[in-house]
Amino acid sequence: MTGTSFDSVSTAAAVARASTAVAVATAVAVAAVGAGVAGAQTTGGGTAPPGDPAITDVLCVTKCIKPRKGVIGSKVRIVGTDLQQVRIVSLPKSDGRRAKDTSPYVKPSGAVLAYVKPGAITGRVRVADSYGQRKDSPIEFKIGTQAQLQRARQKYKFPVPGPHQYWDGLGAGRGHQGQDIGAACKSRVIVAHSGKVIERSGAGPEGAAGNYVMIFNKRDNRTHTYMHLFNPPAVALGDAVTTGQFLGKVGQTGRASGCHLHFELRAGRGWGQVLNPTPLLRAWDKYS
Ligand SMILES: [Zn+2]
Repeated sequence: MTGTSFDSVSTAAAVARASTAVAVATAVAVAAVGAGVAGAQTTGGGTAPPGDPAITDVLCVTKCIKPRKGVIGSKVRIVGTDLQQVRIVSLPKSDGRRAKDTSPYVKPSGAVLAYVKPGAITGRVRVADSYGQRKDSPIEFKIGTQAQLQRARQKYKFPVPGPHQYWDGLGAGRGHQGQDIGAACKSRVIVAHSGKVIERSGAGPEGAAGNYVMIFNKRDNRTHTYMHLFNPPAVALGDAVTTGQFLGKVGQTGRASGCHLHFELRAGRGWGQVLNPTPLLRAWDKYS
């Protein structure tokens, strides 16, 4: 089912940019070696504690109002170093106690996933590991209201409201620059996020993108691009469009095989740096 679409987009410069965005920095934890004195210790196993856990960032994963703002029940991702032994993740409560998640999940990458528990208020996220070491995040994670979450969700929607599948994402071994969303031909496509139409195909399909439209949101400083639409986009150049507005229908115009929406996320206005749209799409998909 995957690998059946062959669209790719446009300028050689854009392709070059994508290839430089793949490198991932990996933090290497310092291994504590206690073998020489293991026999004298009574802690069992002879393994010395790892370094102090340290948090570099706390990001909202589900039920998000902003990248670092969620609600009770939000899932958060804590990134940092020496987090492998984290057993408790907590936020402050108004009574001075802590709202604790006592079963966080440590990912193979070393990041920690945890939930915001009832009673939590805005504050620094604290981790405690199995050695009793604690550390607070350098910045606060904010807790908002359900009403704020509802408003945030009205701002972003999944662009294909009907039945759909995730096809190729970023890269896909071919320098693919977006996320392909497979759907029946002529399925509805809506505006994922409000903005201004800064580019669109004209009377008919143009190049690899086919019938496409680019929408720039000045406040986010992001551009969303929708490609391979069945017909020319249902919006005009310069239009201010709003989330949920009808944009067109899923097609396979341009360089595409099988009806799907090719969705791109780029930094800035227009054909800027390619960013991975898939985590955002999956988040919008959950509540759209
Ligand atoms: Zn594509």
